[in-house]
Amino acid sequence: MKAIEIDILGTPYDILFGTCEELGIGEDLAGDCDFYTKRIRVRSDSIKCDTKQRFETYIQEVMAHEISHAILYESGLVSSAEGENMVEWLSIVAFKLVDTTFKALKLMEVIK
Ligand SMILES: [Zn+2]
Repeated sequence: MKAIEIDILGTPYDILFGTCEELGIGEDLAGDCDFYTKRIRVRSDSIKCDTKQRFETYIQEVMAHEISHAILYESGLVSSAEGENMVEWLSIVAFKLVDTTFKALKLMEVIK
Protein backbone atom coordinates (compact mmCIF):
# COMPACT_ATOMS: atom_id res chain seq x y z
CA MET A 1 0.00 0.00 0.00
CA LYS A 2 1.16 3.53 -0.76
CA ALA A 3 0.28 6.54 1.38
CA ILE A 4 0.86 10.23 0.86
CA GLU A 5 -0.40 13.45 2.37
CA ILE A 6 -1.70 16.14 0.02
CA ASP A 7 -3.00 19.66 0.54
CA ILE A 8 -6.58 20.18 -0.59
CA LEU A 9 -7.52 23.87 -0.35
CA GLY A 10 -5.38 24.25 2.77
CA THR A 11 -6.49 21.06 4.48
CA PRO A 12 -4.18 18.04 4.65
CA TYR A 13 -5.68 14.80 3.35
CA ASP A 14 -4.15 11.33 3.48
CA ILE A 15 -4.37 9.45 0.21
CA LEU A 16 -4.04 5.70 0.42
CA PHE A 17 -3.60 3.48 -2.64
CA GLY A 18 -3.79 -0.27 -2.28
CA THR A 19 -5.84 -3.40 -2.60
CA CYS A 20 -9.31 -3.85 -1.24
CA GLU A 21 -7.92 -5.89 1.63
CA GLU A 22 -5.12 -3.44 2.46
CA LEU A 23 -7.52 -0.48 2.52
CA GLY A 24 -10.37 -2.24 4.28
CA ILE A 25 -12.73 -0.95 1.63
CA GLY A 26 -15.80 -2.66 0.20
CA GLU A 27 -15.36 -4.68 -2.97
CA ASP A 28 -18.14 -2.68 -4.61
CA LEU A 29 -16.14 0.58 -4.38
CA ALA A 30 -13.27 1.83 -6.54
CA GLY A 31 -12.46 4.45 -3.93
CA ASP A 32 -13.89 6.73 -1.31
CA CYS A 33 -13.39 10.08 0.38
CA ASP A 34 -14.05 10.66 4.07
CA PHE A 35 -14.41 14.37 4.84
CA TYR A 36 -14.25 13.83 8.60
CA THR A 37 -11.06 11.78 8.83
CA LYS A 38 -9.62 13.67 5.79
CA ARG A 39 -8.77 10.40 4.08
CA ILE A 40 -9.08 9.30 0.45
CA ARG A 41 -8.72 5.64 -0.46
CA VAL A 42 -8.25 4.39 -4.03
CA ARG A 43 -8.21 0.71 -4.83
CA SER A 44 -5.46 -0.70 -7.00
CA ASP A 45 -7.41 -3.88 -7.68
CA SER A 46 -10.87 -2.59 -8.56
CA ILE A 47 -10.59 -3.26 -12.28
CA LYS A 48 -8.76 -5.63 -14.59
CA CYS A 49 -7.29 -3.72 -17.54
CA ASP A 50 -5.63 -5.27 -20.55
CA THR A 51 -2.98 -2.55 -20.83
CA LYS A 52 -0.97 -0.46 -18.41
CA GLN A 53 -2.20 2.72 -20.14
CA ARG A 54 -5.86 1.79 -19.65
CA PHE A 55 -5.16 1.00 -15.98
CA GLU A 56 -3.41 4.35 -15.46
CA THR A 57 -6.26 6.24 -17.15
CA TYR A 58 -8.79 4.45 -14.97
CA ILE A 59 -6.82 5.14 -11.77
CA GLN A 60 -6.47 8.83 -12.73
CA GLU A 61 -10.24 9.07 -13.18
CA VAL A 62 -10.92 7.43 -9.82
CA MET A 63 -8.32 9.61 -8.07
CA ALA A 64 -9.69 12.79 -9.71
CA HIS A 65 -13.20 11.78 -8.67
CA GLU A 66 -12.27 11.24 -5.01
CA ILE A 67 -10.18 14.45 -4.87
CA SER A 68 -13.13 16.33 -6.39
CA HIS A 69 -15.29 15.18 -3.47
CA ALA A 70 -12.71 16.69 -1.10
CA ILE A 71 -12.33 19.93 -3.09
CA LEU A 72 -16.07 20.55 -3.08
CA TYR A 73 -16.31 19.82 0.64
CA GLU A 74 -13.31 21.96 1.60
CA SER A 75 -14.57 24.83 -0.56
CA GLY A 76 -17.74 24.93 1.52
CA LEU A 77 -20.04 23.23 -0.98
CA VAL A 78 -20.86 20.49 1.50
CA SER A 79 -24.08 19.28 -0.12
CA SER A 80 -22.47 19.28 -3.59
CA ALA A 81 -19.55 17.28 -2.22
CA GLU A 82 -21.90 14.40 -1.51
CA GLY A 83 -23.57 14.52 -4.94
CA GLU A 84 -22.04 12.23 -7.51
CA ASN A 85 -23.17 14.30 -10.53
CA MET A 86 -21.43 17.48 -9.37
CA VAL A 87 -18.32 15.54 -8.38
CA GLU A 88 -18.14 13.82 -11.76
CA TRP A 89 -18.69 17.13 -13.57
CA LEU A 90 -15.91 18.83 -11.59
CA SER A 91 -13.43 16.00 -12.09
CA ILE A 92 -13.97 16.01 -15.88
CA VAL A 93 -14.05 19.79 -16.31
CA ALA A 94 -11.07 20.44 -14.04
CA PHE A 95 -8.96 17.92 -15.95
CA LYS A 96 -9.91 19.49 -19.29
CA LEU A 97 -9.30 23.01 -17.96
CA VAL A 98 -5.76 22.14 -16.85
CA ASP A 99 -5.06 20.19 -20.04
CA THR A 100 -6.33 22.98 -22.31
CA THR A 101 -4.46 25.64 -20.34
CA PHE A 102 -1.14 23.79 -20.64
CA LYS A 103 -1.71 23.11 -24.36
CA ALA A 104 -2.39 26.81 -25.00
CA LEU A 105 0.68 27.91 -23.04
CA LYS A 106 2.84 25.35 -24.85
CA LEU A 107 1.51 26.39 -28.28
CA MET A 108 2.35 30.01 -27.44
CA GLU A 109 5.76 28.79 -26.26
CA VAL A 110 5.25 30.44 -22.90
CA ILE A 111 6.07 27.13 -21.20
CA LYS A 112 7.69 23.95 -22.47
ZN1 LIG B 1 -18.14 9.67 -5.64
